[in-house]
Amino acid sequence: MNHPIVRLLLAVGLLWLGVLPQSYAGMLAKDDLEKLFEDQYVVGEIQPDLPIYPLFVINPAAPESKPELKAYVFETNEVVSVRGYSGKPVNILVVIDLSGRLLSAKLIDHKEPIFLDSYGTSKLTEFAAQYKGLTVRHSIEINKATDTPSRNESAAYLRGIHRGTITAKAINRTIMSAAAKVALAKLKINITDSFDEKPTENQSTAQHPNADAKPVATPLSAPAETKLADNPKPAMAAVAEEKTSVAETTVKQVSPSVVPEKKSGESAEKTTETPADSRATEKLEGTDRSIENQPIHEAGTVPHDVPGKAEQINYLSEDQDARREWMNLWQSRGLDIAILLSGLLILSLGLIAQKRFSASSKRLRILRTAYLLFTLGFIGWYAQGQLTIVNITAALESLTTGGDLSFLMNDPMTVILWLFVGLTLLVWGRGTFCGWLCPFGALQELISLVANAIGIRQRRLRAALDAKLKWVKYLVLATLLASLYVAPRFAEKAVEIEPFKTAISFYFQRDWPYVLWAVACLFLGVVVYRGYCRYICPLGAALASVNFLQRWSWIPRREACGTPCQSCRHRCEYQAIAPTGKINYSECFQCLDCVSIYQDDQRCLPLIQERKASSRVIPVHVTGFTV
Ligand code: SF4
Ligand code: SF4
Repeated sequence: MNHPIVRLLLAVGLLWLGVLPQSYAGMLAKDDLEKLFEDQYVVGEIQPDLPIYPLFVINPAAPESKPELKAYVFETNEVVSVRGYSGKPVNILVVIDLSGRLLSAKLIDHKEPIFLDSYGTSKLTEFAAQYKGLTVRHSIEINKATDTPSRNESAAYLRGIHRGTITAKAINRTIMSAAAKVALAKLKINITDSFDEKPTENQSTAQHPNADAKPVATPLSAPAETKLADNPKPAMAAVAEEKTSVAETTVKQVSPSVVPEKKSGESAEKTTETPADSRATEKLEGTDRSIENQPIHEAGTVPHDVPGKAEQINYLSEDQDARREWMNLWQSRGLDIAILLSGLLILSLGLIAQKRFSASSKRLRILRTAYLLFTLGFIGWYAQGQLTIVNITAALESLTTGGDLSFLMNDPMTVILWLFVGLTLLVWGRGTFCGWLCPFGALQELISLVANAIGIRQRRLRAALDAKLKWVKYLVLATLLASLYVAPRFAEKAVEIEPFKTAISFYFQRDWPYVLWAVACLFLGVVVYRGYCRYICPLGAALASVNFLQRWSWIPRREACGTPCQSCRHRCEYQAIAPTGKINYSECFQCLDCVSIYQDDQRCLPLIQERKASSRVIPVHVTGFTV
């Protein structure tokens, strides 16, 4: 596994996966929407200019009359491409009325790693539901998860998501950017509009600004509502006739559980089921069928007494908004960033002056223990700066689905640490992160120290077995990366092989299987030194697989290293020194023990010999005296 060709293949594999194309389509077809809204609205045809559907209401007293346009419904991932922590969009079904007010915001799918279980998903669902009744002009502030939400006509203070700040911000941007985009395109709202100008409940489609708008220039179809306004047929018939070529060619992947039969005339793609889709639909059916029962009409009666001129629409540009948001976030975490940068500076200086740093084994032990406590306490538990394989998979996901890496900017600790790791990979190899900056790694090592202090020693495996077991982490990594593309649902679960989330993000407060796994990984470290790191960790494997970039053999060696001296090799807890004395930098955790030994005339064989030679008493005989 440590052969450069194997590592090169893994690195090429990473890049190859990075260029595999993927895309995110919407999950609900018109049929699904019709089922969801059958009691409230007639669903029109998908719009040619934006993948959104108009919602009409029929006057029961005059069913033959023109249906009245009331709102639009859309999936946010068809309108905007905001990324969450996972690098994938959070998909929300939004209903917006003609005044720009959100009548509903229902989470239908997400891949946010911390919230994948049903409890986590329910937290995101609750967060998204808070947007009901808000307008595109509201400015939004996300408070703590324990704060009471409040709102007025122009601002809303929402209840945040515990340990989900990045996800909450992503959902906020998703909903508000998508709503603003739809409002500007279809509702003809601009920043000088007032809510006083909004159409009343009784206004007809023709009275709405959109009705006067020219049909969107498209060779395929005019907007459904424009046609419907001239169509005297009953709404259902009229809507049925609105099957445009756009609707027919729009890729819609629908679960058969929602759409039992494929209708003639629909494209084959339209009824293609994918696991992700069926899951999304299950969620919708399982938890959100209530949208049918949910008081959409009631939502439509949210007081519209917004006075005066409108606030500026806050989410005109996804990019601008995202940039402003992460800049604010970086400012708000200025102190944390300063502490982290100071810590990295100290570490860099220590590693540059490695011989001084490790001049005595006692000094090294004290400094190293202090730094590991900083890593675990500050970087990990306090600042939540645990790098994880999810960062890599999220980046790959985003890049392969037309996104970029800007979503990472919402997590300053992660960005800074990855930049530092990238830089130090070239100089010192993966050991800088794994040996000093990984909170879970630090936790393992600190536990080993405690175990040693009470007399429990870790076992040293036979070299052949150790070499074989070190393959395992590469297999874990390869399986994870491959499953991202061939079995994404498995990949979502498989990343849980990293116990970081449980031990660092959740402080062990999770469902017992996760806690059990994290404890087992820590226990392994008591039996075999840093066992999880050396044999299982996919992030360690990913870093080791690009370790060939490391150019500096920074650990000092002597000619006697390996032949005959084996002192460092036997003392290297990570078994990263070959019998020849050569350092295996892919497995070296930069603990500096061997650098300390190198300078120690009590432990380094050539130095011991030198010391003994220089202190040897050579008897000199002078007449009558012995010196
Ligand atoms: S091998 Fe994994 S757990 Fe161990 S220090 Fe490296 S990244 Fe952290
Ligand atoms: S003792 Fe082993 S792990 Fe530590 S620096 Fe030396 S080679 Fe690397």
